Amino acid sequence: MSNLRFKAVDEASSRKAMEVPVPDVKTSDYFGKYVFDRKNMRKYLSKETLKLVLNAIDRGEPLQREVANHVAAGMRMWAMEMGATHYTHWFHPLTDGTAEKHDAFVDFDGNGGVIEEFSGKLLAQQEPDASSFPSGGIRNTFEARGYTAWDPSSPAFIVNDTLCIPTIFISYTGEALDYKTPLLKSINAVDKAATEVCKLFDPNVKKVFSYLGWEQEYFLVDEALYSARPDLVLTERTLMGHDSAKNQQLEDHYFGSIPTRVAAFMRDLEYECYKLSIPVKTRHNEVAPNQFEVAPIYEECNLAVDHNLLLMSVMKIVARRHCFRVLLHEKPFKGINGSGKHNNWSLGTDTGVNLLGPGKNAKQNLQFITFISNILMAVYKNNALLKASISSATNAHRLGANEAPPAIISVFMGTQISALLDNLAKSKGLKDIELQEKTGTRLSLSHIPEILVDNTDRNRTSPFAFTGNRFEFRAVGSSANCASAMLALNTAVAGQLKEFKKEVDTLISKGKTKDEAIFLTIQKNIKESQNIRFDGNGYSDEWKAEAAKRGLDCETKVPVILDAYLSKESVKLFTSTDVLSEKELHARNEVKWEQYTKKIQIEARVLGDLAMNHIIPVATRYQGLLLDNVSKIFALYDKEKAKKLAAQNLSIIEDIAEHMNFIKLKVDEMVEVRKVANKIENEREKALTYCEKIAPYFDLIRYHIDKLELTIDNEMWTLPKYRELLFIR
Ligand code: ADP
Ligand code: MG
Repeated sequence: MSNLRFKAVDEASSRKAMEVPVPDVKTSDYFGKYVFDRKNMRKYLSKETLKLVLNAIDRGEPLQREVANHVAAGMRMWAMEMGATHYTHWFHPLTDGTAEKHDAFVDFDGNGGVIEEFSGKLLAQQEPDASSFPSGGIRNTFEARGYTAWDPSSPAFIVNDTLCIPTIFISYTGEALDYKTPLLKSINAVDKAATEVCKLFDPNVKKVFSYLGWEQEYFLVDEALYSARPDLVLTERTLMGHDSAKNQQLEDHYFGSIPTRVAAFMRDLEYECYKLSIPVKTRHNEVAPNQFEVAPIYEECNLAVDHNLLLMSVMKIVARRHCFRVLLHEKPFKGINGSGKHNNWSLGTDTGVNLLGPGKNAKQNLQFITFISNILMAVYKNNALLKASISSATNAHRLGANEAPPAIISVFMGTQISALLDNLAKSKGLKDIELQEKTGTRLSLSHIPEILVDNTDRNRTSPFAFTGNRFEFRAVGSSANCASAMLALNTAVAGQLKEFKKEVDTLISKGKTKDEAIFLTIQKNIKESQNIRFDGNGYSDEWKAEAAKRGLDCETKVPVILDAYLSKESVKLFTSTDVLSEKELHARNEVKWEQYTKKIQIEARVLGDLAMNHIIPVATRYQGLLLDNVSKIFALYDKEKAKKLAAQNLSIIEDIAEHMNFIKLKVDEMVEVRKVANKIENEREKALTYCEKIAPYFDLIRYHIDKLELTIDNEMWTLPKYRELLFIR
């Protein structure tokens, strides 16, 4: 980095990081080295124990304490051989990220010495003193303590010296205090509902899995420059900073080669991921400068969520090794693309069929269309809820801006599948479709595979797009826990599939054949969910108007969007599928509103501080220099000449004064509004006040700070600028 003002981590020190040895063994030799996976289980558990654990993993059967003791013993032996001295229950509280509390294996042996201990009890359950995790009042109300309980379906792993055991986190009275508990329940709900529907087509199906393949976008920033930006350090985004003259307008980053320093980071990251069984597969530059993406091979949803959370924490550690900081915030820089986390989602059977992929014949395609149309219906009925599931203070910067999914949920199906669905909606019955197949009319059920092969129209503006064999939920934020979106989607689809099955059964009981009943119900769903389908430009103003006319949820304020969790329909959906109780839904919303408030509150404080103790002092100093210069001119020259000579600086002095006055005025106002807001007790009302009354000050204040940045002597400006932060070589 060539600027004179800040010493970015230079080539020499980053070269050291670049020298991280590339392992000279095959990936498959160390893949999963730090995971207590099936291979290790076979080695460290008895045959009998292994069988019972695999039953618990594959079929959700409960594990007896005795078995847990055996598993714990095997796990400890393996972990100690790998150098672990501690263990922790690893869980996902309602904040984004993970939580852990480490305990050593070591214990007194009762004879004056110590031994390593790890019982089934410690494996199965713990009571972290978690009173400071957000719980929306559940714990306060019931004076209960939260405890963590082992999730055998996600394997334990080792990070540094610690054995990490994936767990759920629930209150003593059984309410979920985390993301994993309802995620597991939603996976179960969609499994049950989808299996019932599959049985209409194939009685051999016993289980349906939900799959997730995430695409994680992120920014890298040089560590030294990051440290000189208190806003990045405290809020993960820049609250000020004028556009760099060059940013992404040349569109040269996406196709550019990966900078050497970054490539070294990626290699190291992949190495760490493989040791933890995270199957990362794709790496590339993203649209914005310094923006990159990593994506794995898709996995079963619960495991994929755990792997994404683990990846996010591994990324942070590896980045520091390379003198970088990784920014997972959805919008670290104004004016250039933000980061998302596309959630590629699909359903597949234990018989190996992808339910969202077309089949080989008309019968298989009827099943494919059954699932597609039910998903359309689920997204249609729950579009407000799905939006709530991805909404947060940080993702709000991204949604609705001209680069990312709009703040309205719609589904892109592509012209061909859309035409097929329209065709089905118009058909007079199954016979009509069979006729089309015989006559070879296009867009009949037997033509789907061909259609999809040449279906290349990808729509980048859709928040929820069909991409040939899966749906891609693109509105998810880069810093989010995928579980939030996945549990809402799984639950919505589970609820819809249950309804579908009921309707089909009713028609059959009224004398329709099975195929007729399926066809009629599909047809009804396609017609009813028509309004959710949109293949056009999701960023356009016309779409906003059109979506409102179609009755889709167009709310843009996060605290109000979150209301969707508590609508009559959502409560019915979550309770009827046994994913979340009404009490849990209320408690979780309290947490979400509180989180929203806190995020905006912190930003407001940081912005106020920086404005008053970074920006105004620098502006004053520079103004003082100019004033000096002007008074010297007036001392040397006669008044008329001096006026001419000093004209330029006099006008800058006044400009600076105006900007400073405005900044001071608005910061003071913002502080006053905040004082009032902080007295509000109702969490929703408080969040809404922060959204409507406080957040709008950010851009007002920033505008004047950014103007000052353009005016003030470059050498005096205390904060690294966008052009310095954004171009890693
Ligand atoms: P893109 O073209 O959108 O960048 P990629 O080929 O990078 O897509 O894949 C994105 C993600 O989708 C990967 O994690 C991939 O494993 C995942 N994916 C592929 N097929 C499926 C599927 N059937 N279900 C879920 N995820 C899938
Ligand atoms: Mg994608």
